[in-house]
Amino acid sequence: MQIVIFLPLTLILITQPNVILASFLVLCVSPLWELRVLAWFLFLINFHLVRIKAMSVLYILLFFLIFCFRARPQVQTQAHWKAPIMWEGMFEPKLYDLTHNKAHSSVALTVFAVGRYLDAYLNTFLTSAERYFMLGLPVTYFIFTDLPEKVPNIKLGLGRSLKIVQIEKHSRWQDISMMRMKTISNTIESEIHHCCNYVFCFDVDQKFMGRFGSEALGDSVALLHAHYYKLPKERFTYDRNPKSKAFLQTGDFYYHAAIFGGLLKNVKNLTDSCYMSIMEDKKNNVEALWHDESHLNKYFFLYKPSRILSPEYCWDQSIYDKSDINVTRLIWAPKNYDTLRMNI
Ligand code: UDP
Ligand code: MN
Repeated sequence: MQIVIFLPLTLILITQPNVILASFLVLCVSPLWELRVLAWFLFLINFHLVRIKAMSVLYILLFFLIFCFRARPQVQTQAHWKAPIMWEGMFEPKLYDLTHNKAHSSVALTVFAVGRYLDAYLNTFLTSAERYFMLGLPVTYFIFTDLPEKVPNIKLGLGRSLKIVQIEKHSRWQDISMMRMKTISNTIESEIHHCCNYVFCFDVDQKFMGRFGSEALGDSVALLHAHYYKLPKERFTYDRNPKSKAFLQTGDFYYHAAIFGGLLKNVKNLTDSCYMSIMEDKKNNVEALWHDESHLNKYFFLYKPSRILSPEYCWDQSIYDKSDINVTRLIWAPKNYDTLRMNI
């Protein structure tokens, strides 16, 4: 729009000085007062026009600078409620580390490794987290498993600790996934609040590949799903069954349940709310399309996250178009569902 208005003006700018000069000369040398008055008007009008046009050129330059030299011009970097979407290049990691060190931030990481998922994923998940997750801040891992004796003995860095919490194994994988909400909520109340002020909840079938640092901490944190962040909203796979509590006609983004987090009170609210919706669905004999993920999407639609992680924070390497991914911080591990999930 600006270009349409200002481009013709900019073109005239080149001829304008001549008119000003000519009218100035006539003003100085003409013996006829009518000519001098005319020259004076011409001089004033053109002088004014030049000023306007100079401003236009400035605007065009600014427009160009703002839109073409942004850190990440190709991707959305802010939600409409002003929450930042964290893409590589948009932030200074050292500043975030400094701020969180000063604030004495401490982070709990919860992860579930139930049944065959333990052998398949936990070791890689933990060893890679030790290399890349929240380095420099106190971190406590909470491992929820039905097989505590099989949790690998990982050498942990300074200021980092690990707690194993034994849980029951639900027979359906859908229930293992959904019931995490209840367990996380209980553990925030019983244990996490003693050691940490932030909590991050992870799927175990992933591997850290790059810095996953304090820039990811926020009051309430959600993650854009790698497969959906570029798709139009109509293709988001929200739960469209009006009988389910997860029902959502349209939303803001499609979030991935593999990672969510935030301040303890916010994650407690999230997990309680999702758990109550899941139980209500069970009472009504319905199950949301993508289980806990559908409920999570409903929750984040109602209670907007204050910080959103780009798919750089959870990337599926099988996606062909990697053009927006400047750094892979965490990747999906291969999903061998046929051997891992026993009830399908
Ligand atoms: N999970 C588990 N054992 C199971 C099923 C699920 O430990 O038998 C946990 C595990 O942390 C897993 C998460 O629940 O990462 C979610 O399940 P999954 O990764 O299979 O779901 P998807 O990533 O396919 O949505
Ligand atoms: Mn997973």
